[in-house]
Amino acid sequence: MLAVGEALQRILGTVRALGAERVFLLEALGRVNTEDITAGRTIPPRDNSAMDGYALRAEDTAGADRENPVVLEITEDIPAGKSPLYPVRRGQAARIMTGGIIPEGADAVLRVEDTESAENRVKIFVPVPKSQDVRFAGEDVRSGHTVIPRGKTIGAPEIGMLAAIGCSMVSVHRRPSVAILATGNELAEIDEEPGPGMIVNSNSYALAAQVLECGARPIILGIARDNRSDLVEKFENAAGADMILSSGGVSVGDYDLVKDIMGELGKMDFWRVAMRPGRPLAFGMLQGKPIFGLPGNPVSSMVSFEQFVRPALRKMMGHKELFRRTVKAELAAEIKKKEDLRYFYRARLRKEGNRVIAAVTGDQGSGILSSMVKADGLIILPESVSTFPAGTVVDVQVLRDF
Ligand code: AMP
Ligand code: MG
Repeated sequence: MLAVGEALQRILGTVRALGAERVFLLEALGRVNTEDITAGRTIPPRDNSAMDGYALRAEDTAGADRENPVVLEITEDIPAGKSPLYPVRRGQAARIMTGGIIPEGADAVLRVEDTESAENRVKIFVPVPKSQDVRFAGEDVRSGHTVIPRGKTIGAPEIGMLAAIGCSMVSVHRRPSVAILATGNELAEIDEEPGPGMIVNSNSYALAAQVLECGARPIILGIARDNRSDLVEKFENAAGADMILSSGGVSVGDYDLVKDIMGELGKMDFWRVAMRPGRPLAFGMLQGKPIFGLPGNPVSSMVSFEQFVRPALRKMMGHKELFRRTVKAELAAEIKKKEDLRYFYRARLRKEGNRVIAAVTGDQGSGILSSMVKADGLIILPESVSTFPAGTVVDVQVLRDF
């Protein structure tokens, strides 16, 4: 039986980042770019106004106040998007809108609120320092400079920047396709009324959602029954994907054939991990693709996904940060567990001032999906300790905002 850390190392030592593809910029959201992106233009392209007001020569405004305004002659109107026609000479100003290009000779902008105009004259009520409310060419982006380094995750700011530099296509790591196979004679389809002893295949959907949350592409392959021929056929089908996930059939029952078949069709690396929930977990390679035989119990399957599959998928997508954020939290009540296994307890998190309190969400049975529904995170309880008194500070893997 492998320790959690060792299992993770083996998995991450096996999977590789997928190749690149060029996509429309919005398709790149949440993905990792594979090349340095360099600006082919300067932003802003010209010196322009940050205010609606008057472009003028700062020196002309010295000593201006309400009682003794400086009066300047208006040369023209400069809305955004129009080139100025005239220079601003001593004693002159141009009426300018936000984004309008600063005319030659002007070196500052005074906002309209500090002026009063009549016909082609404007009264200036305050002195203006040089450069006031001027946005300079290239103050944001300089042509030839890298604006988004290789390996960066593309978020909304990066998409804005790509658009600003006129880059509509971007090269990012491919999204992994993930084949999802449920196994079990007792499984019914989601819209079927389950017969006696049957349960609905919920794992395929929970896993597909987890895959989507990672930014990968789930392919739900349905249910394989617990017999060799069905399993072999469906696993062979699954190998077209970049990763294969199955759930169920990996423990030691008579119908648990998944790990045997994984070994026959491909190569199995390990099949047990010292954790709870999720002890039975088979990992290997099938036709060059990583394959996970996840446990059948719904919570075990989800928790194993969190610990092993998510980091692997993130690596395949080129992310450097593979793991969830953890926070330090105080246990709301005592927890006792077995030694030698790492436990993951579902917990609700709440803030109390600077402290975070973690309260277990009830029954921790590996089939109790409702306690997963209530959870904001997973308390990580280390192998070597068995009793955690109330108030113990523990690490919690954060699954959602709290
Ligand atoms: P197994 O490891 O195949 O014996 O499965 C362990 C438990 O998980 C059993 O109670 C199964 O009914 C349940 N289970 C297995 N696969 C699924 C699934 N796809 N959806 C929901 N429960 C499942
Ligand atoms: Mg089964």
